[in-house]
Amino acid sequence: MVSKSKALPKGISAAEFDKAVRELRAIVGDEYVIVDDDKLAPYRKIMMPVPEAQHELSASVMPDGVEQIQRVMKVVNKYRIPVYPISTGKNLGYGSAAPVQRGQIVMDLRRMNRIIEVDPELCTALVEPGVTYQQLYDYLQEHKLPLWFSCPAPSAIAGPVGNMVDRGVGYTPYGEHFLFSCGMEVVLADGKVLRTGMGAMENSNTWQVFKWGYGPTLDGIFTQSNFGVVTKMGMWLMPAPPDYRPFCIQYPNEADITKIVEALRPLRIAMVIPNAVVIAHTLWEAPCTPVKRADYHTGPGAISDEAVKKIQKDHNIGAWNVYAGLYGTKETNDANWKIIEAVAAATGGKIITQEQSKGSKALEYRFDLMKGKPNLGEFGLYNWRGGGGSIWFAPVSQAKGAETLKQMQMAKTILAKYGFDYVGEFIVGWRDMHHVIDLLYDRSNPEQMQKAYACYDELLHTFAKEGYGMYRANTAFAEKVAATYGPVKRDVEKRLKKALDPNNIIAPGRCGISL
Ligand SMILES: Cc1cc2nc3c(=O)[nH]c(=O)nc-3n(C[C@H](O)[C@H](O)[C@H](O)COP(=O)(O)OP(=O)(O)OC[C@H]3O[C@@H](n4cnc5c(N)ncnc54)[C@H](O)[C@@H]3O)c2cc1C
Repeated sequence: MVSKSKALPKGISAAEFDKAVRELRAIVGDEYVIVDDDKLAPYRKIMMPVPEAQHELSASVMPDGVEQIQRVMKVVNKYRIPVYPISTGKNLGYGSAAPVQRGQIVMDLRRMNRIIEVDPELCTALVEPGVTYQQLYDYLQEHKLPLWFSCPAPSAIAGPVGNMVDRGVGYTPYGEHFLFSCGMEVVLADGKVLRTGMGAMENSNTWQVFKWGYGPTLDGIFTQSNFGVVTKMGMWLMPAPPDYRPFCIQYPNEADITKIVEALRPLRIAMVIPNAVVIAHTLWEAPCTPVKRADYHTGPGAISDEAVKKIQKDHNIGAWNVYAGLYGTKETNDANWKIIEAVAAATGGKIITQEQSKGSKALEYRFDLMKGKPNLGEFGLYNWRGGGGSIWFAPVSQAKGAETLKQMQMAKTILAKYGFDYVGEFIVGWRDMHHVIDLLYDRSNPEQMQKAYACYDELLHTFAKEGYGMYRANTAFAEKVAATYGPVKRDVEKRLKKALDPNNIIAPGRCGISL
């Protein structure tokens, strides 16, 4: 019965697989090991430009708690069946919930969705992997706690643990999520439970307040890796500021981005602007407004610069649209607001305040995100082209004006070669920028899918040659992206993998790490 599985794990016979499934069911309960083709369908919804068969799972297992995970580890070690852990499984555009290699069992941690603790005085939380940002938001509202967190754009359905272990980003002053995590609990491949930082000590009450503990800090090795299953994570919450003043500054020309970054970087580094500054291109804003591509461009090829200009004019969208906020008291924000006004005036930008943003979908969802209010406004991007294909191309650069047009031109030329539009934004962190480009294509069109793959590949290699590495990558390109970081790093990762997971059973292939 079980052996009907579409994709048995590599080297495992149907009989062995059946035995393993029976043992897993004895641990987590029959209904929490799925092998039915129909029921596995949600895990297969990939946005990657490769056939689904490459990422076909053999089953999914849903443990509820550390002890069950430890027992699952025993079984999969015995049979040498790899498991691919996911938390809320919404890694859309970076790989979704499908495993990195065909035949892996998805370990879906959605049942572990407890908010274990929120400390309103220290402003910390301890959560399990299945907790969504929406759930945490609702909890804080229900308990009338004036605390904010930072979340990514798909926050209503995604969660802090999955986002943080993939080193995702958000839009409040706590937007560099790994930086604002504090303490992890990890089940290792041999079933041992590691608590990082102060959590390693018995009776410690500082796990969520001091990251480092004693000796090497281990948290980092459990992000963008496959060395363990993260079962708890501490995170810092931000006191809701008495005055929150989000704003958008629109600029008329693509070339303006150089001076935008030069003007804003000092404010960012000095923390006058405490959150990541997003500089979104017209074609990021347009689908979220919403504007239809078909009204401006039909036929093959990328949309023309003239059509983009027309969209700007017709819908009052800037060539670049800068989003940031002030977080403080009325007095501090009044003082800093003068600086923002002066910068906008000096650089030729038009400020849009929260009051002026009413009725604009594109602005409203951003202003909500910058105060950590979950929403799904950014999913408008998928109406631009249709067909459900999306890969994020996300190189890092220095936060310097000169980097922007250079990267944008490199990307635009390659995208246009394959008939794709430049849908991008720069996110100014403290000293770096993430240049995030959504390579949107029609997954139901095999030719576009091939082109999307070739396009990402060319983008990756062209940017790597210039020294630009990805901050994070789509599962389909994990191996290729890992290769751009050189052999020594990869060798160290392999040695760690050998030491921590000698049977190679936790997500082999994730981020290019495998034995
Ligand atoms: C329109 C749109 C906008 C987006 N905007 C953003 C954004 O602003 N910022 C951003 O960061 N992302 C963004 N994303 C990408 C993605 O959707 C989010 O990062 C999302 O938070 C990741 O999904 P998740 O939280 O469900 O993590 P999961 O999918 O559960 O996990 C991500 C990966 O981490 C690993 N993992 C997960 N849990 C564990 C665990 N417990 N132990 C070990 N390994 C684990 C797995 O390999 C998994 O595939 C966007 C996506 C879309 C479609």
